[in-house]
Amino acid sequence: MGEYIPTWDLESLFPGGSTSKEFKVYLENINEEIKVLSDQLRQLDSERKNLVEEVVSFIRQLEHTMFHFREAAAFISCLSAQDVTDEHANTLVSKRGALSASFQGVLTNAMQKFAAIPEETWIELVKRTELAGIEFVMNEYRDTAKDLLSTEQELLINDLSVDGYHAWNQMYSTIVGNMKVEIEEDGEVNSYSIGQASNKLTAEARTTRKHVFEKLQEAWEDQSSLFAQTLNHLAGFRLQTYKHRKWENVLKEPLKINRMKQETLDAMWSAISNNKQPFVDYLHRKAEILGVEKLSVYDVGAPIANDVRRFSYTEGADFIIEQFRTFSPKMADFAQMAFENRWIEAEDRAGKRPGGFCTSFPDSRETRIFMTYSGTSSNISTLAHELGHAYHQHVMNDLHGLNQRYAMNVAETASTFAEMIVADATIGQAKTKEEKQALLEDKIQRSVAFFMNIHARYLFELNFYKERENGFVPAARLNEMMVEAQKEAYQDALDEYDPYFWASKLHFHITTTPFYNFPYTFGYLFSLGIYAHAKEKGGNFEEEYIALLRDTGRMSVEDLAMKHLEADITKEDFWESAIRLCARDVKEFLEL
Ligand SMILES: [Zn+2]
Repeated sequence: MGEYIPTWDLESLFPGGSTSKEFKVYLENINEEIKVLSDQLRQLDSERKNLVEEVVSFIRQLEHTMFHFREAAAFISCLSAQDVTDEHANTLVSKRGALSASFQGVLTNAMQKFAAIPEETWIELVKRTELAGIEFVMNEYRDTAKDLLSTEQELLINDLSVDGYHAWNQMYSTIVGNMKVEIEEDGEVNSYSIGQASNKLTAEARTTRKHVFEKLQEAWEDQSSLFAQTLNHLAGFRLQTYKHRKWENVLKEPLKINRMKQETLDAMWSAISNNKQPFVDYLHRKAEILGVEKLSVYDVGAPIANDVRRFSYTEGADFIIEQFRTFSPKMADFAQMAFENRWIEAEDRAGKRPGGFCTSFPDSRETRIFMTYSGTSSNISTLAHELGHAYHQHVMNDLHGLNQRYAMNVAETASTFAEMIVADATIGQAKTKEEKQALLEDKIQRSVAFFMNIHARYLFELNFYKERENGFVPAARLNEMMVEAQKEAYQDALDEYDPYFWASKLHFHITTTPFYNFPYTFGYLFSLGIYAHAKEKGGNFEEEYIALLRDTGRMSVEDLAMKHLEADITKEDFWESAIRLCARDVKEFLEL
């Protein structure tokens, strides 16, 4: 077998990169389509006789435009990620923002129109064969509108949010992008970007980690008054909107986006809070291994052994394909196709954005994965993770466009699941005790991240929004609240916490999805539940897994779990049994 090429092919989607003429035309068409949709909506009047026909034709057009918009948005993401200096790509990012606002405007408008349709007509409407299978989303649209203000007011909020809300997020990124951290290395002082400096937090020498951590804290402290502004104002915009809509619970929006109940969220966190002891034990043992009394926040991710094994891109790819195959031949074939057709940008080079993502092109029925591969086992996990996302989209390709949209909590399920298959296989194939311990630790680290780090983010955000209702929360108070949240989430297992985490973590500044935290933990534990189920079922699980993924865009997560796993996720039992699987890793680790 030959070698896989680690750069992606975007030319087959639109030739010419960020100056592509074809893409320019494609974007112009979307603008036209949005106008058509607006016209259709304007004519849609609940008194008219052919209302049902009009809605059917609107939905048909909406599906097309949605595909085109997602396709364009994905292409722009790829362009801006592969080369951060590409000015044309940055211009396209702004265009996408404007396009997204007008598309969102159409959706809001449609929801309001649907809400105005009399109940009887509506029941007749959703039964139409052309709309078969999309009742859930249609009803969701209609219900959403019932919680909104008038169309005029919602459209005004939508328009104002471009500069008054989402702009705070851009402002945040601009400030972070300009920040520099001076770090002393071997007697000389080097200047680094935030991303580069943060990578040094996993250095082997504790003195280095401590130095980098302190320098980063200084950098965040210097800008903290600006970040207090960005965070407070975007939160203020959100709270004002909620107030006018008479929404009392700050979790209402994120729960709705994730199609989950408050009971489910509460059951999940409560199960986690009650089962933290094994992970506290792990942190204490790690302190012993590192020779300190108690770990500091910058020790949690420190390596305990040299991860010496490196895998070439092709070796990594072959390993993933092989491991996927033991579980699902279809998933393995898909991954192989993605490597062969160059759907993945993995080259280790300068000028790329950090991190990884997977984005789909529903019009072409393709996906693209972005990451930087340098040969570590953690890189292989990331690659498997993103392939899990890609496979999720792949099995949904032939569904109605409205049924292809799923929230982050279930999105992170498919990815974590794929990651888990590979992580377990890597542990199974470890050659030495040290290697096995290091790989097990890698896995436990994930549990610590989801049960402690993300829990802290959730607790902080909940408290912050409560205080923000009474006015501006200054940086010093944000620091206090952050440390309080971390102490609770880590159950006092650490010696030193990260007060500026509210500033350094981008996720608090994401405006498209509020509470960008609990869906990760949900996805992790939910996929563990599926994993346990799969191991029980053995070979028959492939088709069941596909069926589950295909339903992620058309039902609540409670119904999804009940239908496919026969589990009631509003109860703690489900979550506890998933946590037990993670605790087992800790037990094995402590025995080694
Ligand atoms: Zn992911």
